[in-house]
Amino acid sequence: MEIKDSISADFVDGTFVSCIERNRKSPSSVIVIGGGISGIAAARILHNASFEVLLLESRDRIGGRIHTDYSFGCPVDMGASWQVHASLLHGVCNENPLAPLIRRLGLPLYRTSGDNSVLYDHDLESYMLFDMDGHQVPQQMAIEVGDAFKRILKETEKVRDEHSHDMSVLQAILIVLDRHPELRQEGLAHEVLQWYICRMEAWFAADVDMISLKNWDEASHMIHLFQFIEHVLSGGHGLMVQGYYPVIKALAKDIDIRLNHRVTRVASGCGEVMITVEDGRNFVADAAIITVPIGVLKANLIEFEPKLPEWKVAAISDLGVGNENKIALRFDKVFWPNVELLGTVAPRSYACGYFLNLHKATGHPVLVYMAAGRFAYDLEKQSDESAVNFVMLQLKKMFPDASEPVQYLFSRWGTDPDSLGCYSYDLVGKPTDVYDRLRAPVGNLFFGGEAVSMENQGSVHGAYSSGVTAAENCRRHLVERRGSLEKIQLVSFRDEILEATVPLQISRM
Ligand SMILES: Cc1cc2nc3c(=O)[nH]c(=O)nc-3n(C[C@H](O)[C@H](O)[C@H](O)COP(=O)(O)OP(=O)(O)OC[C@H]3O[C@@H](n4cnc5c(N)ncnc54)[C@H](O)[C@@H]3O)c2cc1C
Repeated sequence: MEIKDSISADFVDGTFVSCIERNRKSPSSVIVIGGGISGIAAARILHNASFEVLLLESRDRIGGRIHTDYSFGCPVDMGASWQVHASLLHGVCNENPLAPLIRRLGLPLYRTSGDNSVLYDHDLESYMLFDMDGHQVPQQMAIEVGDAFKRILKETEKVRDEHSHDMSVLQAILIVLDRHPELRQEGLAHEVLQWYICRMEAWFAADVDMISLKNWDEASHMIHLFQFIEHVLSGGHGLMVQGYYPVIKALAKDIDIRLNHRVTRVASGCGEVMITVEDGRNFVADAAIITVPIGVLKANLIEFEPKLPEWKVAAISDLGVGNENKIALRFDKVFWPNVELLGTVAPRSYACGYFLNLHKATGHPVLVYMAAGRFAYDLEKQSDESAVNFVMLQLKKMFPDASEPVQYLFSRWGTDPDSLGCYSYDLVGKPTDVYDRLRAPVGNLFFGGEAVSMENQGSVHGAYSSGVTAAENCRRHLVERRGSLEKIQLVSFRDEILEATVPLQISRM
């Protein structure tokens, strides 16, 4: 195999002393770092194009921030769980690039939002809100405050257009409320408004005082979602009923993946890359595709030799990384109503919370509590037991007869050294070219991952597309470098799966 697993050190003082002699007739070799959907998509493309591909993954599993846990006896996604049906950019409804594969695999989706959605991923009729004392919020109030929130967000667009400098979404909301006192909410309605803000924070995985007003619509989430809801109406979001893992498994088929291989050093020179893993072994190839999370890059857990250029380092630090955690609870019986979301409203968005009712979508007695932003980091400071006790207190306020969970799971995406955050978001004042710099290659090093996605950062399909793009750029680079006129056949997996014509299996219970 071209990719060498070498114990010997080929570097002295950080420079190549000997460049490995390569048999030029053999296929070009690429090492992909990171076995999340982006790295696997990149490896898939290159594998199908007959390149030698080796994927190095630090964890003992593939999937990264896609993590379907089966210990409850049913699939529970502790990372990504929704498939956004459409790309929401520019008001155009392009199909999610993973939809053909999901169709082909026959994976059912449970649609959590449709044409009447006023919330980001759930229809209004399918959630129930409670105050801190466990009293149910009247549904009419939830509807009215939801409408007010939409108007507030619309008005923030004007604030954005009036100001040349960036500001946080919270600052913009406060300006809007000053200008339009009629949109201010009092008492319980104020708490409901905070709950909507909490839901918005969950989309960005960051607090509203951290989210950039200038970039939030470019970052694909909120405003496009509203446009989508209002104008396109053909998709909505779907929960992966059987979990996301089957998608990962299908894409990873036949790829040479080495688990428990944590990369600590990436050295490049003489048209080669040498990748060092934790136990000191080196792997050599013609190029590398780096798809580790932005949190890992920010923490400098991988040493680059030579150092990454200043513009790349600045881009990595200019992007924000948020946090979202899930606490999944399995009960022996269902004691809650048949709605999709159970929410708690509070005077501050920080104290609001919500549970996703997986029973409605999957038939299993499982609730998943979700926390985002600073609150998600604060939860990680607690032991599993005290975090579970904390959310059970909320549940018991809503349902005094609630039983104790028979099993639970707690994600810790913020402190997990293989993620160090849940996904990227735009910081206030972010330079406009940050994504261009993030995805730009450095010699024979190519960059993938959700954070470098062209237009759908923070999503599974964005991460997938970024891996595909990195692989295509890497392939082009290697073909040009070889000066070969022979066309290397690119049997793109993407093309292959696009041929599938099976309809998506979407249900609504
Ligand atoms: C709680 C949560 C909920 C989410 N919900 C959704 C959702 O509903 N819908 C949606 O579309 N998106 C969602 N996302 C976002 C989505 O999961 C990510 O955008 C996507 O999975 C990222 O894929 P990736 O390949 O870029 O990164 P990752 O999946 O993180 O893959 C990177 C890989 O690199 C590995 N790695 C790290 N360091 C090293 C190293 N030194 N050496 C070797 N390997 C290393 C990691 O172990 C990991 O496997 C959610 C994310 C989280 C955390």
